[in-house]
Amino acid sequence: MKVAVANIGRILSGNLAAPVVSGDTIVMSDGKIVSAGSGGDVAGCDVVIDAAGCTAMPGLIDSHVHITFGDYTPRQKTVGFLESYVHGGVTACISASEVHVPGRPRDPAGVKALAIAAHKSFVNYRPGGMRVHAGSVILEPGLTDDDFAEMARHGVWLAKAGFGAFSTPYEYAPYVAMARQHNMVTMVHTGGSSIPGSAGIWADHLLTIKPDVSYHVNGGPIAMPDEDFPRLVNESAIAMQVCTAGNLRTTLLVAKLLTEAKQLERLLIATDTPTGSGIMPLGMLYTMSHLASLAGVAPELTVAMATGNNANAYRLNNGLIAAGRDADIVLVDACLGGSQDDALSALKNGDILGVGAVMTAGVPRFVGRSRNTPETVRKVRVAHCTVPQSFGTEH
Ligand SMILES: [Zn+2]
Repeated sequence: MKVAVANIGRILSGNLAAPVVSGDTIVMSDGKIVSAGSGGDVAGCDVVIDAAGCTAMPGLIDSHVHITFGDYTPRQKTVGFLESYVHGGVTACISASEVHVPGRPRDPAGVKALAIAAHKSFVNYRPGGMRVHAGSVILEPGLTDDDFAEMARHGVWLAKAGFGAFSTPYEYAPYVAMARQHNMVTMVHTGGSSIPGSAGIWADHLLTIKPDVSYHVNGGPIAMPDEDFPRLVNESAIAMQVCTAGNLRTTLLVAKLLTEAKQLERLLIATDTPTGSGIMPLGMLYTMSHLASLAGVAPELTVAMATGNNANAYRLNNGLIAAGRDADIVLVDACLGGSQDDALSALKNGDILGVGAVMTAGVPRFVGRSRNTPETVRKVRVAHCTVPQSFGTEH
C-alpha cells in the first residue's frame, strides 16, 4: 500500500540535532518512508490523508512498558491496553522485562525460555498496529555465556538487571558484560529498592555495572539521592531514561543537568507502565509537556526525546521522519477548546496533544479522532482512498 499525508503544517523529524524538516508532505510505501518534504509523488497513492495543517511527528517509542503475553496486563487486570496506547500516539514499545508474568520463573532455564518465548510471540503480533519489542531477559545468578549465546541466536536482544536474586547490585556487572558481548542492549533498574534487603540501585552501582540505559533514572517510582544525578551525567555515557510513573522533580533535574552538559541526546522518555501507578496511554505526551513547560526544553526536542533518542539507544529503524525509516507517523495538534493553536505551543503551555491520526508500518490505524485524547483543533481526514478500509474513523 502506498500512502501519502499532505497539507502538513509542520514536520518534526524526531532528530534532536535537526528537529524540523521543511515541507508539507510525507509519502510512504511498503512500510517505509519514501520522502518527507515539499511535493512528493502523491498522485498514484492508494490513500491520501489531508493533515489540514496538523503537525506530523514520528510515532512515539515508549522504551519502558511492562508487557507480558498478548495485549493483557496482569498487574492491572486489563485487556487491550497496548491498542489503547496507540491512541496516545505510541507506535512502538520496548519490554521492561516480562517480570509481571504471574509466577514468573527465577532459574536460568526459566528466564531464558521466558525471554525467547516473549520475543517470538511478538514478532508477528502487532496490537492495534503497534510494534512490541519483547523478550527482555531478567538477569539471574547462574546464567552463562552459552545461555546468552543461545538467546541471541533466537533473536533476544534486550537484557534487564534489577530483579535478580543477587545479594548486591554490584554482582550484576559480569552478567551485563556478557549480555553486551552478545550484542544485547542492557538496562538497569535505578532508584528505590527492587532487591529485598538492598537500599536501592544508585549511581555508584550503575557506574560499576555500566549498562547502556539507566531505566527510570528518576525513580521507578522512588528516586535515588539528588547528589547521584551529576555523577551519572558527568562520569558516564549511560542513556538516562525518565518515566512518567516516577519522580517528576528529578525528571526536571535530569533535563537541567543534561542541558548544561549539552548531552540531551542521552535523555529518553518512557512511561514505566502498566505498574501499580496504572495504565497510561497518554503518559508519553504528559512527560513531553512536563519537560517543555517546566524544564525549559524546546518542545520539538521533547518530541526527539520520545522518538529518535529512543531509536538511537535501541538501534531501531523507526523514530525518525526520513527516507528509508519505518513509516510510523502520528498527526498531532493543540486540543480543541484550549488556549493554544498548534502542537508546539500546546506542549510549551503544559498541555498534552490531540492525536488526529496514527500510521504504523505505513498503514493508517485510525484517522480522525483518538479515543483517548481531546479533539484536535484542525480536522485530519481521508481525502482519497482506493482500498476498502474504514481507518477507525467512527471514533
Ligand atoms: Zn518498570
